[in-house]
Amino acid sequence: MPWFEKKPKFSSLPGAVRPSNVPEGLYEKCPDCYSMIYRKEFEENLHVCPKCHYHARVSARERIVMLVDPGTFQEDNSHLSPVDKLQFEAKKKYSKQIEEGRKKTGQLDAIVSGIGKIHGKTASLAIMDFTFLGGSMGSVVGEKVTRAMERALAERIPVITVTATGGARMMESILSLMQMAKTSALCAELDRAGIPFISVLSDPSTAGVMASFAALGDVIIAEPRCLVGFAGRRVIEQTVREHLPKGFQTAEFVQEHGFVDIVCERRELRGVLARLLNHLWYASPKRKSDGNGRSRAGSERSSKKTQAVEQAVAQ
Ligand SMILES: [Zn+2]
Repeated sequence: MPWFEKKPKFSSLPGAVRPSNVPEGLYEKCPDCYSMIYRKEFEENLHVCPKCHYHARVSARERIVMLVDPGTFQEDNSHLSPVDKLQFEAKKKYSKQIEEGRKKTGQLDAIVSGIGKIHGKTASLAIMDFTFLGGSMGSVVGEKVTRAMERALAERIPVITVTATGGARMMESILSLMQMAKTSALCAELDRAGIPFISVLSDPSTAGVMASFAALGDVIIAEPRCLVGFAGRRVIEQTVREHLPKGFQTAEFVQEHGFVDIVCERRELRGVLARLLNHLWYASPKRKSDGNGRSRAGSERSSKKTQAVEQAVAQ
């Protein structure tokens, strides 16, 4: 007779019970309210919970289907593959984690880049995938974001990034941190050339990515209730020894504090991006000039941006 009866570690949460006699895979559980949602309904609703409106994480490929006009996406730099320079090993070997990420996503790293059209307007895109090693930014993610921006400069088209990331990839140490400087430098290049950069934040967008290119967009859009921040809540509370307000680090909270321009429903995102591309670039006289961002006064630029944001949201 064992001394302790083996009990399940966690009791099931209300609403988390799968309906009986339902085949596996027919339903999906909302990660937030634990409602069981018919998978087809969840997919048709772009992975947004119809009950609590939670915007669940989506893969880079799914995101492309949601945002880009069918048949217009041309992937580039898909051959770039991470190298385990430090032979890093913690609980698991880094090389093994890369392998697992590949199996899960069918990609060589946590990002897909290329060019595509949104409502007929071409943009250079870099879209992150949280499923691959927590969407962490190592040398490949940094390089592909950089190349997406370089391509935008060369072809004079706007850039859109969609982030889903826990930050820099620790297993690549300094090589990963260097990507913060590299991507930020390219944001400055885009700014000098007057080419718009729109940063879309999805859940979660944190740490080294948020402390570099993701926060440097001309316009920053976030999905509702997504986590946006640098360090985690617990770490900050322990450091500053203060309780942080409710909803701290959500999209809505950071918008209220001026860090995000638009909080946008997933269903509206494509239309908002198309209108922004139009206002900021395709219908703008700036496109025809050689666009020297620095020559414009700061106040003029910020009022133009406010106008574009207002028009993109209003329609
Ligand atoms: Zn829900």
